[in-house]
Amino acid sequence: MRLMFLDTPIRPQRSTLTLVAVSSVWMAVLGNWALWKTLMTLPDLTGWHGLGFGVAFAFIIANVVAAVLSLFAWRFTLKPAITLLLLLTALATHYMLMYGIVVDTPMLINVLQTDTREARDQLSWRLLITVLILAVLPIVWVWRQPVIAIPFGKQVLRNVGLLVASLALAFGATQLVFQDFSSLMRNYTEMRYQINPLNSIYAVLDMTVIPAEQPRGPLQSLGLDAHIEQRAGQVPQRPPLLVFVLGETARSASFSLNGYTRSTNPLLAKENVASFTHVSSCGTSTAESLPCMFSHLGRSAFDKRSNEFENMLDVLQHAGYAVLWIDNQSGCKGQCARVPYVNTSDLKLPEYCEDGECRDTVMIARIEAELSKLPAERRARGTVVVMHQMGSHGPAYFKRSPAAFKKFTPECTDTSLSQCDREQIVNAYDNTLVFTDYFLSRVIGWLKTQDKTSTPAMLYVSDHGESLGEKNMYLHGLPYSVAPPEQTTVPLVAWLSPSFEQLSRVNTRCLQANRDKPLSHDNLFHSVLGLMAVKTAAYQRERDFFAACEGR
Ligand SMILES: [Zn+2]
Repeated sequence: MRLMFLDTPIRPQRSTLTLVAVSSVWMAVLGNWALWKTLMTLPDLTGWHGLGFGVAFAFIIANVVAAVLSLFAWRFTLKPAITLLLLLTALATHYMLMYGIVVDTPMLINVLQTDTREARDQLSWRLLITVLILAVLPIVWVWRQPVIAIPFGKQVLRNVGLLVASLALAFGATQLVFQDFSSLMRNYTEMRYQINPLNSIYAVLDMTVIPAEQPRGPLQSLGLDAHIEQRAGQVPQRPPLLVFVLGETARSASFSLNGYTRSTNPLLAKENVASFTHVSSCGTSTAESLPCMFSHLGRSAFDKRSNEFENMLDVLQHAGYAVLWIDNQSGCKGQCARVPYVNTSDLKLPEYCEDGECRDTVMIARIEAELSKLPAERRARGTVVVMHQMGSHGPAYFKRSPAAFKKFTPECTDTSLSQCDREQIVNAYDNTLVFTDYFLSRVIGWLKTQDKTSTPAMLYVSDHGESLGEKNMYLHGLPYSVAPPEQTTVPLVAWLSPSFEQLSRVNTRCLQANRDKPLSHDNLFHSVLGLMAVKTAAYQRERDFFAACEGR
């Protein structure tokens, strides 16, 4: 008997051109859903005029994508290249639609530095559906198409032809709508970071092959001349002890200390603290803010720096202080490279930690044990501890506060913020601040117990703020130039024990009187050195916000 085989249906063979054309159009049209949505809300382009512009814009994008793909249009590289671009497009579309973010280099750095714990927070059904429709569907189609094999020389000619033709078409179309196009890009700069998948390609190139505007030389040491100035009120057995709490995603506008109508700081309000109301951050993301916060340069000089420098912690260490970084977040972004460092999730303390995430209070539970490991001769001069909080890290705000601190309900308990009412999102966020308030009051409480053996003080400042639905924006990470104040205005709270006030001659009442003075992360380096009486050429007194309140 003869076995009969059913022939698999013969698929028409496709040329690389067809695959490039179909996937470019797919990405340009469907993969830019977020861009079209933005475009429709703009007052500049409406009706037929707006529609015509939209079609031209999509045509331009499709041709630029085709030009990019022409570089990969070889039999064995084209399908992987298309697959990668489709995935980037789908992921970017999801986050853009969900959180009103854009894809630029800092955002990409942010994503790459996000640890798996945070990434897990962000997984959702919506994400899966978006990736399925925008990427998986066309990917399956692409991989099922047999590609016609043609001689190498002919393929070269064809790819060069595709590159030239698509660039020419893109250029021609841009000329046709040039006026609208250029005014749009000028008025809405952030829109260029919404163009999928070109935004992701640009960000990757910017991070890898495009040389930085000024190549940065090797690490420069800083403050090698630093030493501790002996202060008149110093009791030798009671060295200064400063806890620098590095907050996460706390926005100034949601602090009741700064005028928010909900009571988010009930415990801090009972302490003798100074809370500054107009403090701007250095960046809009952890990765962008942290290196700049600890730098002596200040935001604008930091952006233009030609070298990497040592930071505040190095200078404190050069001066002879004991320095420690306790991290309850995704790391110190290089800021603790040369100082002792402890990561709380490595400690595996079931009382405080679950699923690899610990409550910020774990840092207080561990501090004495960790401090005792520092060199005694340094501790005799004084200590600076950085506590890096998990704080209000989103979008899963509800995971950041224990049940006892859920003062505002109902909370949004979906990791996709768009699944919740704005009110629920704000409730969940405000509860994270209630817990931060408790944490800070516990830090102060612990510092008070140290008063017999040291001279304690606390400084709290957040790395950046957060959008909670204002102008339909969520989360953080917009380019600084277009970021709303919610993302760049951060709380800054100082607590000085009476003995520290005596030692430093800085008066809390004077700080309170100056609380509305505009400050920024630019002040931090100099203010901490000033508070700790570090003398060095790197210190600038005019940037030290404690200096104005000294001896009054
Ligand atoms: Zn952050």
